[in-house]
Amino acid sequence: MTMIDPELSYKLYSDEIIYRPPPESESILLQVAVGCSYSECTFCREQAHHRFKAYPLAEVEEKIAILASLPENKHKKELFFVGENCLVLPTQHLVAILQAVHELLPQVEHINMYGRAVEILQKGHADLTTLKNLGVSSIYVGIESGSDQVLKNCKKGENTAQMLKALQLLDEVGLTYSLSSIIGLGGEELAWEHATKTAEFYNQVHPKSIRLMTLSPEKGTTMLADIQAGRFHQLPPWKTILEERLLLKNLTVENCLVYGNHFSNILPLVARWTEDKELVLEKMDEIICSMDPEKIHSKDFDHM
Ligand code: SF4
Repeated sequence: MTMIDPELSYKLYSDEIIYRPPPESESILLQVAVGCSYSECTFCREQAHHRFKAYPLAEVEEKIAILASLPENKHKKELFFVGENCLVLPTQHLVAILQAVHELLPQVEHINMYGRAVEILQKGHADLTTLKNLGVSSIYVGIESGSDQVLKNCKKGENTAQMLKALQLLDEVGLTYSLSSIIGLGGEELAWEHATKTAEFYNQVHPKSIRLMTLSPEKGTTMLADIQAGRFHQLPPWKTILEERLLLKNLTVENCLVYGNHFSNILPLVARWTEDKELVLEKMDEIICSMDPEKIHSKDFDHM
């Protein structure tokens, strides 16, 4: 882990915790925005804050200069834009930031960021190509679920048809993408649909990696209020593992890394798909059977 001087850290980042996907652990982290411009998803910490702000170019340039002065960044070729949906920023603003990155950090070859499906569609082929030509390589997209009902319930603000179209557009342009979804997002009622349809969605596209997180709504979110009021029935831990297993059993996507190592996950998982699939399912079966043999019968896994 790299320790940054607290005073520099204060100039570089808005929060003590910097949110970035696991594959970006070695990347230079450049914060270009705070929060999410959408901030409506009922399970997300950003819904509680509604604090979106894009940094002006001058401030971003100052951050790039600081990052370029740090010896540990001298040979790093990957850079990640910190901010929940940086792709929403106007293309000209992103272009100016990318140009400043190349000027001050000339060794950087790949620049990655979070983006929503609707923003990919709004950018369109031409703008995405411009960004790609300036070094943007990969977009991290939270699909959350492959079930339109679950997406509607959690107010995701986009549906699976839009997501599919957006990812096909990234394929066309030649930008890679990594996807994430949330185990338990359908609650008790939609657990089976959520798991099977999410796997089905993943199987239609070509993600570089998939990240499975587990529902853990924070204070101030609608989801937490719904759980506390009994309007949403959160899965108990053993059913959470069954849902994850059902998704993984149905997942056939090739050449993909599957991460289930978020702090919210009950079982830590990092696997190559589909090479490690059988081994992962076997291990999960062992763990499930040792957890609660009264409730769980391995043959029933597929019929939660
Ligand atoms: S889940 Fe993503 S899109 Fe939804 S509010 Fe949070 S950061 Fe924004």
